[in-house]
Amino acid sequence: MDESEVKRIGRGYALLSGGLDSQLAICVLKEQGLWIEGVVFASPFFKIDAAKKAAEQLRIPLHIVDFTSDILELIEKPRHGFGSAMNPCIDCHGRMIRRAGEMMRANGFDFVATGEVLNQRPMSQNRLSLGIVAKDADLGGRLLRPLCAQLLDPTLPEQEGIVDRARLLGLNGRGRKPQMELATKYGLVEYPSPAGGCLLTEKGFSRRLADVKEHEGLGNVRLINLLLHGRHFRLPGGAKCVAGRDAKDNLALKSYRQPDDVMIHTVNVPGPTLLIPGGASQEDIALACGMCAQYGDHGERETVIVRVVCGDSAIERAVPPIPKDQFSRYLI
Ligand code: SF4
Repeated sequence: MDESEVKRIGRGYALLSGGLDSQLAICVLKEQGLWIEGVVFASPFFKIDAAKKAAEQLRIPLHIVDFTSDILELIEKPRHGFGSAMNPCIDCHGRMIRRAGEMMRANGFDFVATGEVLNQRPMSQNRLSLGIVAKDADLGGRLLRPLCAQLLDPTLPEQEGIVDRARLLGLNGRGRKPQMELATKYGLVEYPSPAGGCLLTEKGFSRRLADVKEHEGLGNVRLINLLLHGRHFRLPGGAKCVAGRDAKDNLALKSYRQPDDVMIHTVNVPGPTLLIPGGASQEDIALACGMCAQYGDHGERETVIVRVVCGDSAIERAVPPIPKDQFSRYLI
């Protein structure tokens, strides 16, 4: 069925993370003959590969929306607070649905659908939270939650007869058995586990993000992207230092380098690349050189030659490796 054949049938955008629930919500709607297009939100914190695979599996178009400035603004000041880490889930859901709602209005679609299940997540998917999200999203009654719609008030597309309420579901709670049965019914074989996928829910990542928020602020997307690579240190003079853990990290750090950064790498032994975005005091640079030597393959050597690059200039220094217990407290 192509779009021209369904122009008299309801059309909706569905938030598609790629997780099972978001896929099932789409299956339930497609089963009614509705035209569904997926929407996935991209930022440094969430990957979109699962959504791409899911869209292929479901045979629906997928729209990729850059959400970076939205999520950074929400992390800066979440109206409804954070979850267990730096995940502003209620604000985030509301904003994603609102953004999809803008597409709905611009393109004359009838509704926005999500894969939310009542009470599946104690904080962000209870009845109160679903109400807050709906209010923030401001869709004027056009937010459809097909997996638990029968437990909620009828939405406008249901009242208008565009969506058949009787064929929507009434899922409630944390159990996954009904979803697994539905996955079998709809022949869904590919979906990631329900947990994971968003770095903002991870404690270690959130600690590093909070450190950037406190020191440099969230306005610099390069610094946010750097959080995805290497070990992160806050040196005693206040500089941020990122040490590559492997060749992939080292390459990424080099690609993010800007002229006022300090980059350090080993010369006479294999070793890491260290990046100090925006430069540092001589004391912090000296410490970072010793750290670079330590992470290098120094064997029994008393000193390692490191190259310190800043702008167009580069100098080489012979430095002793600094024992890890002398700088581990700066690890974020
Ligand atoms: S888990 Fe991450 S992507 Fe999902 S709502 Fe929360 S903050 Fe947003």
